[in-house]
Amino acid sequence: MEYAFALGLGLIIGSFLNVCIHRLPREESIAWPGSKCPNCGVHIKWRDNVPVISFILLRAKCRACGGPIAWRYPLVECLAGLAAVLLFHKHGGTPVWFAVSLLAACGIIVLSFVDMDFMIIPDEISLGLLALGLLSFRANPNFSGGWLRELGQSFGGAAAGFFSLWAVAEIGERIFKKEAMGGGDIKLMAGLGALLGWQGVFSTLMLGSFFGAAYGVALIISKKAGKSDPIPFGPFLGLGGLINLYRLIPLSAFILG
Ligand SMILES: [Zn+2]
Repeated sequence: MEYAFALGLGLIIGSFLNVCIHRLPREESIAWPGSKCPNCGVHIKWRDNVPVISFILLRAKCRACGGPIAWRYPLVECLAGLAAVLLFHKHGGTPVWFAVSLLAACGIIVLSFVDMDFMIIPDEISLGLLALGLLSFRANPNFSGGWLRELGQSFGGAAAGFFSLWAVAEIGERIFKKEAMGGGDIKLMAGLGALLGWQGVFSTLMLGSFFGAAYGVALIISKKAGKSDPIPFGPFLGLGGLINLYRLIPLSAFILG
């Protein structure tokens, strides 16, 4: 029953995340007005705006104009639903951290899609994650000790995230003579570091690089992109961050295999 509640909560949140993904990079208000069809601009009634279910009932078509509804909408809702169920499974016993980790997961989902579309990571999200991490250090199961030590671990993680990607960006620019890493990625890593600590930073970078490289190779093999085409790094760092939010993978896991 609790899991059904978590799923429902995630789906409803996912519906709102779709709004954020569409409006944040366009600098539109996320609170007002209500959802509109991107084809005909008609306001979408609440009964046609039920997560996933409306998409199926409407057979992926706008009721007013018959224009297509992107598969991405139910996908984002399902991702948020899945994140809510998994995080509830892992952190349901500590409600504050469940809320914090779910909020962080929502931010990661939004920035991943925005980064895929526009190759940018909105400051609202990356700096939001940073603030979230620095403010929630007392509830963070990744940190231990007294409050000063825990706060230090959060700040230390943020610094580790910032400087590790900053160094990669600097070195990359010298070698390739062009921007290899965006400022958005650096701020994102600082935010994830504040939530995950320095071990989480290391693990997120390892996982993110692996996923990103696998995706890049797949694109080149399938001839969908050339070697010099830019690939957004945010979604892969985000995926690494999500895995660590569920369960922190310590340094030893990478060294000992
Ligand atoms: Zn329409």
